Parts: sequence; C-alpha cells; structure tokens
Amino acid sequence: MKKLLLLAWLAWAAAAGAQTLVGRVPVDDPADASRLAEMGFTVYHAEAPGFVDLVLQPGDADRLRALGYEVLDPVPLARETDIDPEYHTYEELSAELAALEAQHPALCRVDSIGATQAFGRTVWAVKLSDNVAAEEDEMAVLYVGNHHGNEIMGCETLIYMINRFLQDYGTDPQITAWMNTYEIFFVPLFNPDGHHAVTAGINLFWRKNARDNDGDGIFYEFTGGTWWTDNHEGVDLNRNYDWYWSNDGSTNIWSYYYRGPSAFSEGENQGMRVLAGQQRFVSAISFHSYGDIVIAPWTWPQSPGAPDQDVLNSIAQGLAQHFLNDNGQPFDWDVYPGQGGRFPNWLYGFAGVIAYDVELLPYPTFIPPGSQLAERTLRYCNGSKWLLERMGGPGITGHVRDAVTGQPLFARVEIQGRISPQVRPRYTEPQYGRFTRLLNNGTYTVFAGKPGYATQRIQSVAVNNGWTTLEIELTPLSGEDSEAGIASAPAPARLRAGRLSGGQAELVVELDQPARADLAVHDLRGRLVARLLDRDLEPGEHRITFAPAGLPSGVYFARLAAGGTAAVVKLVLVK
Ligand SMILES: [Zn+2]
Repeated sequence: MKKLLLLAWLAWAAAAGAQTLVGRVPVDDPADASRLAEMGFTVYHAEAPGFVDLVLQPGDADRLRALGYEVLDPVPLARETDIDPEYHTYEELSAELAALEAQHPALCRVDSIGATQAFGRTVWAVKLSDNVAAEEDEMAVLYVGNHHGNEIMGCETLIYMINRFLQDYGTDPQITAWMNTYEIFFVPLFNPDGHHAVTAGINLFWRKNARDNDGDGIFYEFTGGTWWTDNHEGVDLNRNYDWYWSNDGSTNIWSYYYRGPSAFSEGENQGMRVLAGQQRFVSAISFHSYGDIVIAPWTWPQSPGAPDQDVLNSIAQGLAQHFLNDNGQPFDWDVYPGQGGRFPNWLYGFAGVIAYDVELLPYPTFIPPGSQLAERTLRYCNGSKWLLERMGGPGITGHVRDAVTGQPLFARVEIQGRISPQVRPRYTEPQYGRFTRLLNNGTYTVFAGKPGYATQRIQSVAVNNGWTTLEIELTPLSGEDSEAGIASAPAPARLRAGRLSGGQAELVVELDQPARADLAVHDLRGRLVARLLDRDLEPGEHRITFAPAGLPSGVYFARLAAGGTAAVVKLVLVK
C-alpha cells in the first residue's frame, strides 16, 4: 500500500516536468483555496486569506488571469520527490532525546505531554534548565516544531538548538546564563504521525495528523492525485485549539484545514493544553514553513487588536530582524486574525503568552536538500535565541503574597489598559505567586486582586530596558468586604464617536472618576496610527478631535483605556 502511494506520487511529480512552475495568487476570501482546487487548479500551499500557491500547469496562469486573479512570482517547482537521510525520523529523534537526557541528567529532562491521536506515538517535551528536575521560580519559554507534518525544518532547528545548548552550557556565557535563569521548553515534533507520513515516503506533503476520519481502519489514505483535495485523513492541529475554534479552519474532512470534530479533539492538542496549563510560559514560538515571516496575534473584527498589541508587534519586529532569509535579509512580520483555533492565538488568549508562528524557509520550499540542513538550523537557531534575549525585559515581574502570612497567592494581576474580553484574566503562578508581563518601555498602573483581599493599585510603575520588580502584598479582608475583588477596582470610563465632518472625527471620553486616560487609534491590522491622549483627566466629558492627516480612507478603531476599563469605537474614514 505504502509503496503504491509513493509510486503514484513519483509518477505525478515526473509528469509535472522540469517546466512546471509554482505561482502565488493573492486572495481575500478563505474559501478561495478550495474554490481554486474545485476548478481543477493544483494547490501547493495556502494561507487564506492571504495567498494560495498553485502548481501551474501549461495554460493555468492565463486561465487564472481570465478569472480575475493575479499570478505573482512564478518559480520552478522544487522536485521534492524524496527526503534526504539527514532529516530525523521519529524513532531517531526519540533515541537522540533519550541519549541527551542520559548524558546531561542535571540539565535536560524529557517528558511525554501525551500521545498522538491515531498511533499513540509519544509527543515529547524537552526541558533545559539548571536543576532541571525542580520547578524553580524561573520564567518559562516554549519552542514548538512541526504542527504540520511536512513542515519539518522547525523540528530540525529545535533538535539542533537542544544539542547546541547542552553542548555549550558552561562555556558559552549567554547560553549558560539563559539555562540558569529560565526554564526552556521544546516540543520539537508536535505532529509525529504527520511527520511519519513524510519521512516514510507515504506523502511528502502530509500536513495534518493521522486521524482516521472515515473510520475505515485504513490509515494514511491518499489517492495520489492532487494531494490537496485527495487527502481526507487527519486533522489540522493548528486549527484544533479551543479558541474561537468554530470560526476558523474547515468542517470538511478533505480540507487542508480540517479542524477536527470538536475543539481539543486531538491527543496532540490535549497534551499541549496540559503543558501550557502547568508551565506559565511568558513567550513562545511555533515553527511552520514556508515564507520567511514572523506572524503575531492578532487582528479582530470591531476591535483594534490585542490589548498587548504594542508588545506583540515590537517583539515580532525584533524576531524578524534576527531571523535571516537566504539573502541575509531580515524576515517579514505581520499580524494575523485572532478569531480562530491557531496555536499563538489560543496561547495568548488563554494564558497571556506572547506567542508567534514563524514560517521558516523561502517561498515555495517545504523540504530543502539535506545538505543545507546544517547551515539552516544554525541560522534559524540564532534567530530563535533572540526570544531569550528579549526575556531580559523590558517588563514587569514579581510576586503576590499574603500580607499577614507571607504565603504566595494565586491572584489576578492586570495592567491598566491591557484588559480585553478576548484575553482571559492573568493570574500569578500558584506555587511561587510570580507574575511576569513583557512590556515596552513606559509607565504603567498595576492592579493585583483576589477575592477575600483588598485590591492593590500601584501607579506610575516605570519600565525602562529591563525588569521592573514589584513585590505585592495583599491584605486579607474580613466579613462583608470579602467579596471585593479586582472587578470592583476599575473606574468606569466610556468612549463614543461624536461628529465626523471634513475628514475630522470627534471622540467623546466620559469618566466617573479621575483617571489616567490612554486614547489611541489603530488600523485594521492593529497598528498604532495615532495616540490622542496619554494623561490624567478629571471626571466628566472630554471632547477630543482626531484630524487624521495622511491616513488613507478605511476603517480605524479608537480605543480608550482608563481606570482599568477599556472601550472601543469604530471610525470609518472617508476622504
Ligand atoms: Zn504550518
């Protein structure tokens, strides 16, 4: 069976011929990928809305243009007909991790986070840290590879990185300091069943896991034609997280983006949920291919983006500068929609983790020759290291403790203006009571609260190129007061749009109490286009004029953060 499928694939690849090209078709509608497939085009890869990359048979480019599509950057199709032995199989990876743990028992621990949905293969998590067996009061960082079976460069990069860190601990001062200071977690191969389809030569383009969707007991069914439409097995693990799950991906088992029968239906994703719940990751990267781009959460309909959009964007920019493409130039970066079950969205929304997808490799490459592996994994490892550099701040960290007993508290800690219905409340880690927030330089107001304690409001917390440490003590309340929590702390603030005329908008801010007001305007991508207020305001009504010189027509969002509450209004600018 396996051999037959491989032969079918080889026959297809041979028929594709030397002149076959891949071209990029920009699309706005997520349905365009399947629409193009249904019209008989051969989809190579897609990220829709965004782009669909097509294998261009003779005449296809003209047909597409006649249909009103643009065809960009045609390049010869890489002949990915075989996988070189430099790449790890799952068995080789498992053996290598076990050997590293045995060689470095004080620095490396290998654990299972769960089993794959179809074959029960163990999904490994590797922790690197000094005193690795202990849960120390250290910040945790997470790197994940291979959500998608055929996107194997992330896995190889992380295997390299694990080896590099263990080898250089004690001699490389930076790596030594990081491993002493942080708990660095790796899930190098998140989708072993999909990866197996690739390394075993069943299908070099296998993206999803190996769930037997049609329940016929035959795995890895693939009819060998246009792989995009002929693979009705597996779930897209990057669409299975319980984060606005039903808004993204597909309900069709044949789809590249099949999201599974329910959120967290897959063993792989369930394992990640456990890991993320146990470890309070501060930041994370998940590797994909391809495109040389860093992708941050998130754009959101009717909202200016994430409450930490400034931080998400600035770290995306920093990462992009440190991941270099084949020409030695920085990666691109972008902000993607937040309302869907993708890993960074879920991890940020669920746990407040500053999380990214990073697409390694240039368009349109999934599996480069094995001879390039050493150079690429070193280069991508160097990019990955910048996240650890950024873990040195700026930001705010510290502990919340009971003022009477000194015991660490599981308490809610929020930063004024950074609360949103789309992000779950942020809590301390219960064992040590630590909280950590990556921020940009600035001045912040921090709230800490817990039912049964008086809420603390700490104003004018300055953050300047490093960690600002706050040790917060909460005083227990007695009797009727004990219901007071952080929810009672914010001062009510309201925002509405006033007149819109002559290209000028008026915004009305109403405050019930004196408060520091931050009023900013963002575009649809979540980018800051104007900061209209960042100062203390008296109670009452304040009218602010927004004169958007130089901004194109379109939709913008004005967002007010004041007294711990946030309000958003939509502005439609017509010039
Ligand atoms: Zn991917």
